[in-house]
Amino acid sequence: MTRILCVDDEPKNLKLLEALLMPAGYEVLRSEDGEKALKLIHSENPDLVLLDIMMPGISGYDVLKIIREDKAIRDVPVVMLTALQEVEDRVKALEAGCDDFISKPFDRVELLAKVKTILKISYYRRQIDEKGKFRAVMDEISDGIAVCGPDWIITDSNASVLRCLNITGSADVNLLEVMFKGYSVSIPKKNFTDLPLTDKIFDLVRGETEATKALYLEAKLNAVKNQAGELSSIVFILRDVTEIRKEEIVKQTFLNHISHKLRTPLMVITGYTTVLQEGILGTLNEKQQAALKALSIKAFLLIKLVEKLLGFTTIYIQNLVHSKEIIELKTYLHSITDAIINNSGNKKVEIEIDCPEGVSLNVNKHYLDQIMENLIENAVKFNDKETVKILVTAIKAPGRIEFSVTDNGIGIPNEEYARIFDKFYQVEKYITGQVEGSGIGLAIVKKLVEGLGGEIHVNSKLGRETIFSFSLPEKAV
Ligand code: ADP
Repeated sequence: MTRILCVDDEPKNLKLLEALLMPAGYEVLRSEDGEKALKLIHSENPDLVLLDIMMPGISGYDVLKIIREDKAIRDVPVVMLTALQEVEDRVKALEAGCDDFISKPFDRVELLAKVKTILKISYYRRQIDEKGKFRAVMDEISDGIAVCGPDWIITDSNASVLRCLNITGSADVNLLEVMFKGYSVSIPKKNFTDLPLTDKIFDLVRGETEATKALYLEAKLNAVKNQAGELSSIVFILRDVTEIRKEEIVKQTFLNHISHKLRTPLMVITGYTTVLQEGILGTLNEKQQAALKALSIKAFLLIKLVEKLLGFTTIYIQNLVHSKEIIELKTYLHSITDAIINNSGNKKVEIEIDCPEGVSLNVNKHYLDQIMENLIENAVKFNDKETVKILVTAIKAPGRIEFSVTDNGIGIPNEEYARIFDKFYQVEKYITGQVEGSGIGLAIVKKLVEGLGGEIHVNSKLGRETIFSFSLPEKAV
């Protein structure tokens, strides 16, 4: 409720003001002198002060001067109540900073009209002040911020976003067009239009040219919906990560190089281990056989790790390769899960496949292999049950195939959902300090799924089950 402080040494004037203002819906605070008025302005923060000029003690002018000099209360609108008609007094009051005058005796219509107008002006002034402050803060922020309408036209943006995206004109600028025209975007365009926009994080890269340096931007998009649940605006946040990414590429390139170098000697080691195990170079006794078995298991793990590292570094330093083939999913899933069961060692693993015959996907097989292997191997690895039970599904939806991998393993705490897809993140490192694996499997999976035009989500019940679900466009990009 709007609160008006009335200050007048005449109680009957205060009563009259109250009688005029209250029926109009205002709450009235009263003061018969300047000192109490100042205290009330501080403690009650009224929306408007109606201040008598002629008062014993501190006069109305002096109260006004004190208000305007006090940072905490200086913005409150003040209307002087005056019986004086002299121009001189009005000039004095205006100089002291009053917003308007109301003549005594009060005319009801004039009083209410002026109060309404002053309150309105004060409201808009505050809004403009707030907007000004907001703009100043936005422009100070080094991250780029832009807001778009549902049609992707930018309606508000700060200096940083305009600089990073090299936007010069102010005419209708379509954010999607700007991104896809000048930058290589880490996820396909249709992911922005066909899939829900919640916390969508992606990279924008502008390659180096003779005139410009390379620019790496990390962007985040979020949809804002109105009460009816319709998309009302899109919030876009942008950060210049050029230095971080360049450093990362150097590291990945180094890791990629090392992995290549490791692969050749490892192949020789496993090759000779097999030759020895098969007795081609002479018969082995039991102890020698056991030693070779241990050697071959570890060499196999090492090869898997190197392959994983290579897959990982390659997708980070290169764009995805787009050679595709049509894969009949039921047969494919059976062959990939059979291989995993064969390599699961002592663990008892049961895998059920739910995929109708004839469902197929046009995709790069090597990428699909990496996605499925990482998810299913994790389902076996992070499992403490006597029998590991896994359900793999692939179901056709309009234009997409929906996949899921469900296990009966240890589960993932809710608060870890977002982080498990980070590079080198391993939940148990923070719980037991013991780590198996490398922490890059899910980072690869997410990068590949998104690069192929899909999305991945996790849902888990601690100690009971984990479901990874992802979708891929039927004709993956
Ligand atoms: P890792 O090489 O450790 O398997 P990932 O990137 O594949 O690395 O997984 C990251 C972390 O997510 C794992 O260390 C594990 O804590 C957790 N995680 C992944 N999959 C599962 C799962 N099916 N059940 C429980 N925890 C999982």
